Amino acid sequence: MNPDLFPFPLLGQVSATLPAVEEAARGTLQTLGINLAYLVSAALFITGLRKMSHPRTARGGNLLSALGMLIAIVVTLGSHEIVSYWTIGAGLIVGSTIGATLAIRVQMTAMPQMVGMLNGFGGLASATVAFAEFLRVYFDTQRDPRIDTLISIGLSALIGTVTFTGSVTAYGKLQGWKLKGTPISNPLMLPQHHLLSVVLLLVCIGLGTVTTMDYSQGLWAIILLLVIASVLGVMAVIPIGGADMPVVISLLNSYSGLAAMTTGFALDNYCLIISGALVGASGIILTKIMCTAMNRSLLNVVAGGFGQEITAAGATTAAAGKTVRQMDAEEAVMVLESAQKVFIVPGYGMAVAQAQHTVAELAELLAKKGADVRFGIHPVAGRMPGHMNVLLAEANVPYERLSDLELNSEMEQCDVAMIIGANDVVNPAARHDRSSPIYGMPIFDVDKARTVMVSKRSLNPGFAGIENELFYLPNTVMLFGDAKKMMSAIVSELKSH
Ligand code: NDP
Repeated sequence: MNPDLFPFPLLGQVSATLPAVEEAARGTLQTLGINLAYLVSAALFITGLRKMSHPRTARGGNLLSALGMLIAIVVTLGSHEIVSYWTIGAGLIVGSTIGATLAIRVQMTAMPQMVGMLNGFGGLASATVAFAEFLRVYFDTQRDPRIDTLISIGLSALIGTVTFTGSVTAYGKLQGWKLKGTPISNPLMLPQHHLLSVVLLLVCIGLGTVTTMDYSQGLWAIILLLVIASVLGVMAVIPIGGADMPVVISLLNSYSGLAAMTTGFALDNYCLIISGALVGASGIILTKIMCTAMNRSLLNVVAGGFGQEITAAGATTAAAGKTVRQMDAEEAVMVLESAQKVFIVPGYGMAVAQAQHTVAELAELLAKKGADVRFGIHPVAGRMPGHMNVLLAEANVPYERLSDLELNSEMEQCDVAMIIGANDVVNPAARHDRSSPIYGMPIFDVDKARTVMVSKRSLNPGFAGIENELFYLPNTVMLFGDAKKMMSAIVSELKSH
């Protein structure tokens, strides 16, 4: 209705404002509905996380969290602020296709790199959204952004970019990239490395302040911030090497959550704030667990100084003059048949060989013959947190058989400690060799068992690149060869007896 044509001016005004009031009420109702749905999502995330704390309920927990995320996505798509569904649709199709292809094709052994990169993409997404949000307020002269929005944009750009380039560097380390022939997995320190990092961080904070104080002049500042933060991310990760990578992966996971959370503040999106905070908090808890597992201090890690504890690790091979005892499958079975207590310690090599099913079968056979068989799962075994748990769950090993480092209390009563593709997590140097990069890391004290059987292909070192004295101890026998082939041979021998 045209108000000018209405005979009574006041009523005309009322009738003109009615649609606006209706519109505002509809907007408020929609916001309320969206926030309620976000609350449901948040509850699902938290319940899901709770369930993920035990292997038995973890799958259900994952599904609940995925449902929470689905609700959050669908509800966000219904928001009145969306400008174009075409761009979102195109992004969804391209992103989902790349993500699904990568997830289907990835080898189990390359999962850590993939997890590392996913953290990085989370950071990149946050930084990109923060930059886009900045451009929105920069070019829209009608807008007068709140100061907290501008602070959040700066933080999100900083943390997101550091997470991205830090994760790419971590990816390169895990993937074995080389720089002028030197593997970048070795700790790399520039002169005055930490001082330089602190200076760069201060410069970023300064640039963020410029952006916040006068955003209309801050385009150059935020672009410079993104560039310097990229360098900072690389510098935070290159000094870390040897066996400390699990700590950095979980820390980057936490950073990606923090980046998402600050983006949530920039967008006023409660769901993003809650989910980002959950990822940030759980990442930091995981980092703490990893620090305890590696015997490193969290403060050192957060300050990025933990590379200092590592001396350059180079691959070493067997020292001359040392004796190595060797057995074949038939001899190994003779020892195993008389064992009452068998502790199996799997490591990265079991993942490479995909030997988990055969190892599970071996454990069942030995248990049927009356042995007390248990698995020792080291927190940093493999190449990602929970790597061994995932593999053994896939092979249906009962949870009751899994133990952590508590198994050490019974190690002296153990007849056979069977090491399958593990190396650093059973290296006794961690207990006594102060010059070792893994010194102080709690290990499985398998050398205290009556017999130690080590299934691996050679005497080559593991991830930390250091020799393992365990291989030369008088109670150790090496079962050389691919772990799956060796375990299959032992299983068939056992069955034929
Ligand atoms: P390691 O990396 O120390 O050793 C793995 C061993 O597996 C190698 O020595 C290798 O010896 C052997 N191996 C490889 N392929 C096979 C195969 N087909 N059959 C049999 N053996 C094989 O592994 P651990 O699990 O003991 O330790 C994990 C290390 O990785 C730690 O240093 C940890 O800090 C680090 N790390 C852990 C992460 C995590 O989140 N869990 C992330 C990043 C790093 P050979 O070549 O002789 O066969």
